Amino acid sequence: MEENMSEKIEDKLYKLKYNTDSKCHLNPDESKCLQCIEKTCTIVCPANVYSYNENEKKLAVSYEKCLECGACKVVCKHIQWTYPKSGKGVVYKKS
Ligand code: SF4
Ligand code: SF4
Repeated sequence: MEENMSEKIEDKLYKLKYNTDSKCHLNPDESKCLQCIEKTCTIVCPANVYSYNENEKKLAVSYEKCLECGACKVVCKHIQWTYPKSGKGVVYKKS
């Protein structure tokens, strides 16, 4: 089937299915996050997995939305990054 190139990324994300793992597969080092100025993970992630709460001084990780693209591990060496357990995580399909 021909891909609709004009489709917005939000619409494409909406079509994905997830088989959520019970265990988080993305584990940032909280002590490093506290000192981190740029919080680059919150900028590069296409699925908005990371959000930083200034009041609580805590990085929230909505791992269930992860697309497993690997961008966050490229920009930050303080994230312990693994794939979800076999069969878990995002499910891509041809449409
Ligand atoms: S995960 Fe990395 S980039 Fe994100 S806040 Fe923590 S140290 Fe900064
Ligand atoms: S692997 Fe990609 S989608 Fe998953 S948290 Fe990192 S940047 Fe976001």
